[in-house]
Amino acid sequence: MPTMNDAAAALKRHFGYDDFRPGQRMLVEAVLDGRDVLGVMPTGAGKSICYQVPGVVLDGMTLVISPLVSLMGDQVRSLLEAGVRGAYLNSSLTPGQQATVMRRALDGAYDVMYVAPERLEDPRFVEFAHKATIPLLAVDEAHCVSQWGQDFRPSYLGIGTFIEGMPARPAVAALTATATEKVRADIVRLLGLRAPLEVVTGFDRPNLSFAVERLEPKRKIARIADLALGRPADSGIVYCSTRKDVERVCDALAAAGVAATRYHAGLSTAERKANQRAFIADDALVMVATNAFGMGIDKSNVRYVVHHNMPGSIEAYYQEAGRAGRDGEPAECLLLWSDGDISTCRFFIEQESENEELTPEEAEGVRATRRRMLESMVGYCYTTGCLRDYILRYFGERDEGGSPFCGNCSNCAGGFAAVDVTDEARAVMRCVHELRGRFGKGMVVDVLRGANTERIRSLGLEGARSYGAVDASAALLKEVVELLAAEGYLVITEGTYPTVGLGPRGREAACEDFSLAMKQTRRLKKPRGAVLAEGAGKASGHVFGAASSGDAALFERLRVLRKSIADSIGKPPYVVFSDATLRDMCAKRPATDEEFLEVSGVGATKLKRYGEGFMSEIRAFEQEM
Ligand code: ADP
Ligand code: ZN
Repeated sequence: MPTMNDAAAALKRHFGYDDFRPGQRMLVEAVLDGRDVLGVMPTGAGKSICYQVPGVVLDGMTLVISPLVSLMGDQVRSLLEAGVRGAYLNSSLTPGQQATVMRRALDGAYDVMYVAPERLEDPRFVEFAHKATIPLLAVDEAHCVSQWGQDFRPSYLGIGTFIEGMPARPAVAALTATATEKVRADIVRLLGLRAPLEVVTGFDRPNLSFAVERLEPKRKIARIADLALGRPADSGIVYCSTRKDVERVCDALAAAGVAATRYHAGLSTAERKANQRAFIADDALVMVATNAFGMGIDKSNVRYVVHHNMPGSIEAYYQEAGRAGRDGEPAECLLLWSDGDISTCRFFIEQESENEELTPEEAEGVRATRRRMLESMVGYCYTTGCLRDYILRYFGERDEGGSPFCGNCSNCAGGFAAVDVTDEARAVMRCVHELRGRFGKGMVVDVLRGANTERIRSLGLEGARSYGAVDASAALLKEVVELLAAEGYLVITEGTYPTVGLGPRGREAACEDFSLAMKQTRRLKKPRGAVLAEGAGKASGHVFGAASSGDAALFERLRVLRKSIADSIGKPPYVVFSDATLRDMCAKRPATDEEFLEVSGVGATKLKRYGEGFMSEIRAFEQEM
C-alpha cells in the first residue's frame, strides 16, 4: 500500500511541487486508503493532481473519465512531459491504434488512462476494463451527471452502471469545479459513491482581482481595447454572450492593433482549431469567444479575463473568470454589464426548452433554479460589499456575518459611492404587496410614481395606497426592484406576462433594521490598462518591485527562450514551464542541477529536458549585467 510519503515524493519528482494544497492532501490520502471521494474545487485549484499522483503510486492503472476529447490530448501531453506514463483512448485513434493501447495497458504500460464516457458502453472496452487492474476511477467534470448542473451529459449516467459491473470495485474520485448542494447530491447518487469524503475547497483564488463596471453597451468595446492595449505583453480572454458580439469585439481589437483571435460555434472546426492553437502558443494574445471556448483549455498564463456581458450564473462566471491566473500569478477579472444583459439572460431562461426528456414540471423546476442562479449573479453586479466575499459565500465556503475586506477587488478599492435607498425599497415592497404580484416591473414603478396612464386608469390603480408614494426617477426605481430581486426580497418571473412578486426574504423588508444601499459606479479617471480603481499597480503581470527590475529583464529572456523551445517541439509554452516557474527561476537563479530542482514546478524530467538551456541563459544574463 503506497503511503502519503510516496505520494509526496511523486508530487515532487514528476510535478516539481513541494507540497500538496490542503484539499489535495485530504483527497489523495482518502483515495490511497481506498475511499470514494467527491472533490469540489474551482478551476485552477489543481484537481488533476488528485488522481494523477495516486495514478503514479498505486499498483495498476487509474482510469479517468473526461468529457472532452480535446482535453485528453493536452492532459496526456502534460503527463508525458512530467514523466508520467499516460495514455488515452478516443475516436481520434484508429481501431488498430486503440487495440494497441489496450494491449499495452494490459501489459502495465500506463499509470493513467483517459477515456470519454461513451467509451464505457463499448463492449470491447468493457471486456478490457474487466481484465485490467484499475484501483482508481476518476470522474472529471462530475457535475455533467446532473440535470441541475450547467452541462448535463446523458452519457455520464452510464458511469454508475459501469462501476457496479467491475469485477473489483475501484475507489471512485468525482471531481468538479461547480456544484451546488443539489448537484452534489446527484453526483453521489448517480455515480453510486459509497460514503465519500466530500471536500469543498480552494474557491478563494487570492491571486485573482475582481472588478465590476456597469457600462452602456456602446462604451464596452472602447473599455476592452483600452485594457488590452495597456497590457501589450499579456494574454487575455474576452467573453461575449453572442457570436455577433464576438465578431464586433474581435474586429475592433484587431483594428486597434491588438493581436486578437476569435472562437464561437459558428466558425468551421478548422478555424476554431487554428485560432485556439494560436492563442495557446501565445501567437494571438487575446481570445474573444463565447462560452463555447474554454472547457479543456488549461493555458496557465492567462493574465486577464474580461466579460463583455453578464453571464447567467455565478458558477458560469467564476468558471470562466477562473481561467485567468491558473499559474498562481496575479491576474484580473473584469465584468462589464448593462441592464440589457439581465433581460437577455431572463429571456434565455424562459425560452430554453433544451431538454426534451424533462416533464413540464421538471422543466419548470430547472427554470426556477436558473432564475435563482441569475438573481445571485445580478446581486454580484449590484453588491456594495467585497466581491470576493460574495463569491465565497455563494459557494458556501464562508459563513454569514463579519465584514470582510479583501483589498483586491473594485469594491474594496472603493470605486463607487453607496446610495441609501431604504425608503424607496420599503415603498416598492409595500407596492408589490398591495398589487399582489399581478404586475410587472414597469407597472410597479408607474404606480409608485403616480403615472397617469391609460392602463392605470382602466385598472383603477389611482386609488391604490402606493399610488404616487415616491418621488424618484423611474430608472432608479427599476434598479431598486432589480436589487431587491437579487437579494431575494422579490421574485421576478419573465414569461409572456412578466410579474414581480414577494420573494423568500420578503418579510424581512418589513423589519425595523432593514436597509438597502445601492452602488453608483463612479469611474475614476485612471491611466490606461488599470482594471481596478486602486491597487492596480500589478498591471501587466509584472509583479516585480523596483528593487528587482533585473528579474523582470531576465523573465523576458526566459520567456523568449521558452517560446522558442515550445515552438521547436510543437508544444504550448506553458507546457514547457509555467509563468510561476519562470518567475521562481528569476528569483532563485539556479546554477546547478540541485538548485534547478529547487525551482517550483521543476521535476526530474523537466530538469533533464530543459535544465541546461535555462541555466545557460541565466548564466549569460548574469555575465552581461
Ligand atoms: P484544475 O484541473 O483544478 O482546473 P489543474 O489541475 O489544471 O487545475 O492545476 C492548476 C495549476 O495548479 C497547474 O498549473 C498545476 O500545475 C498547479 N498545481 C497543482 N497542484 C499544485 C501544488 N500542489 N503546488 C503548486 N502548484 C500546483
Ligand atoms: Zn474585496
